[in-house]
Amino acid sequence: VGPTVAARLRSLGIHTVGDLLFYFPREHRDYSKLLTIAELPFDEVVTTRGLIWEVKTSRTSSGRTRTVATLSDSTGRLSAVWFNQPYLQKQLSEARGEWLVVTGVKQRFGNKVTFTVRSHELPEKGELLNTGILVPVYSLTEGLPARTMRRLTRWVVDRYAALVPDHLPPTIRQAAGLLPLPEAIAQMHYPANEEMLAAARRRLAFDELFLIQLGMQERRTRWQRELPSGQAFKVDLARIFIEPTPAEREAVQAAATPEAEAQGVQGFRSQAAAGTTLWTSLADQRPFEATLPFRFTAAQRRVLCEILGDLSRSRPMCRLLQGDVGSGKTAVAAAALFVAALNGYQGAIMAPTEILAEQHARSIGTMLAPFGIRTVLLTGGLRPKERALGRAAIESGEAAVVIGTHALIQEDVTFQRLGLVIIDEQHRFGVEQREALRQKGYHPHMLVMTATPIPRTLALTLYGDLDLSVIDQLPPGRQKVITRWRTGARREEAYRLVEQQLAEGRQAFIICPLVDESESLSARAVTAEYERLSREVFPHRRLGLLHGGMKPAEKDAVMRRFRDHELDILVATSVVEVGIDVPNATVMVIEDADRFGLSQLHQFRGRVGRGAHQSYCYVLSADAGPQARERLAIFQEIDDGFKLAEHDLRLRGPGDFIGVRQSGMPELRIADFNDTRLIEEARTLAIRLWESDPYLQRPEHAPLREHLSRFWQAFIPH
Ligand code: ADP
Ligand code: MG
Repeated sequence: VGPTVAARLRSLGIHTVGDLLFYFPREHRDYSKLLTIAELPFDEVVTTRGLIWEVKTSRTSSGRTRTVATLSDSTGRLSAVWFNQPYLQKQLSEARGEWLVVTGVKQRFGNKVTFTVRSHELPEKGELLNTGILVPVYSLTEGLPARTMRRLTRWVVDRYAALVPDHLPPTIRQAAGLLPLPEAIAQMHYPANEEMLAAARRRLAFDELFLIQLGMQERRTRWQRELPSGQAFKVDLARIFIEPTPAEREAVQAAATPEAEAQGVQGFRSQAAAGTTLWTSLADQRPFEATLPFRFTAAQRRVLCEILGDLSRSRPMCRLLQGDVGSGKTAVAAAALFVAALNGYQGAIMAPTEILAEQHARSIGTMLAPFGIRTVLLTGGLRPKERALGRAAIESGEAAVVIGTHALIQEDVTFQRLGLVIIDEQHRFGVEQREALRQKGYHPHMLVMTATPIPRTLALTLYGDLDLSVIDQLPPGRQKVITRWRTGARREEAYRLVEQQLAEGRQAFIICPLVDESESLSARAVTAEYERLSREVFPHRRLGLLHGGMKPAEKDAVMRRFRDHELDILVATSVVEVGIDVPNATVMVIEDADRFGLSQLHQFRGRVGRGAHQSYCYVLSADAGPQARERLAIFQEIDDGFKLAEHDLRLRGPGDFIGVRQSGMPELRIADFNDTRLIEEARTLAIRLWESDPYLQRPEHAPLREHLSRFWQAFIPH
């Protein structure tokens, strides 16, 4: 191409023939269902085509221009009409004798029949547009007409598509029933029919998913295999459950590393075990569950067995524990920490905020205290002396369980024998921080937990390097938060309810309008709202303010005052999302709720309904479009985080899920997260291939290996 077209292509990111081959159309216009002129119905949007006979432009009485082209095919004639596009006169006249495709509506005015054109398409010179073609529609740029683009893609597809090497091994292609790459590329641009287009899409979507899954397998192998193996813990279910079932015992036993393999870790075990194993010296000989004020739910038992199975292997656990807010992840984590302690190892749990760490320290401390297991809290907010004491206990191994914030991964913190690492609210931490905590131990087991339910397909992709456990059940007796969706004009109703609840001694959250993405703007907006509420609406109440622009210590201080009921109302931006437990808070008011996704709304709502009192959530939205209305109506009805997440994925796509953007996962251009079958297929095949040839070192996998590293490099900033 010449320099002008080259520059325009460059502005679309197209520098090479290869780029152009992979510059796929946004959509295809279906001209395969063209009607003949005689077949055209009245008053419906339809597409037809005809040879251009003559073209006339005139002025209507109201001063508009009116261009009429007479079109004909073997079945009849048609007057195609455009308004206010006088330049068409010249364009269409020059194309006389050629086919024109028009989409529009046939209408009758008195005894005249006209066809009002909505869009039209001049076929390439000399190239007859056959019926049965799907015409590609590309994203274009100023000065690069659709026709030029099609001429170019037609050219490169015809000459170069066949030369693109297929990186997928034939076995994989056959197993998944996929088109060869050159054919898929050609069909993506100029499909023979809808079926071929679907097959081409499927192939290219598979490629993306497969490469992501391979990348995840690589990450996982680096963690698990490249290193010598870690510690296989001894697990005795009778120490955990009051009555372990035979099936549970069997599941854990089946997972356990056989003695022979376990030999490899004896060295560490005996070192760690020197006088510190707690099996016999426990203060309380009852099973863990017996000391709790509740019994485990079936879902908690199931995931605990999965986790304990992992802990009983020498290959370090890499597991993601998902569970809706309030599903009881803390007790599960505590049981795992208990097992580590029994085996003479230390366990650590890292939370994203001080207040959460304190919360964990209190609840986990209480759960482990009967057994004489010592826990310490380590946060940045401690006084230097306390901190030093904590560090000493960690270093000597006296503290079997350590609970903390980022302070845990500071350089001056040394563990004596860290064997289990747990990350809470994992999306708040980067992969590096996770890794930093792991580095504190010798190939410790790792459990990451999240209260942000995401659909299974997304979890398998984003966290493809982790095994997945899901607590899909809430403890019994939870009351449903009564949710009311109101227009902004009915804010008074929400305030009345807040006032009434406060009068009964309860507390409330008010989540404020999120002005835009900018921190400082929304800080200003929430501050103004806080002042308005303090002065005009709740002058006799104690209000607190929380926003993302505040320092962590300031945030923690405000949260603490709210927790200790020194405040009645917390006015906040979306920072309140992280799992704070204030059982006395019973009302949440969310302003401009239409700006949030369902999953995020669900996170907000999870802050209330945590105590014995009936709780309420008001979602206010001034004027919501149809999509937002659908969302809010769903939110009012459904309180299952996973179901909401699936709706969110369907309605808003994956970009809105917390953690997706930070996850460092390549962006999907073709694949769709709603395609469960293809995602699972890609994952299964990736795992199988990787297991048969880790790191893809066999010569026949060289093209795939190379493609894999290019795929990840292209997306991930190093
Ligand atoms: P999350 O999964 O959000 O971290 P938590 O672990 O904080 O939830 O648990 C929420 C509340 O439920 C806590 O007060 C906890 O004591 C309680 N809980 C946990 N498991 C059970 C259970 N099996 N039965 C009854 N209550 C439970
Ligand atoms: Mg929690």
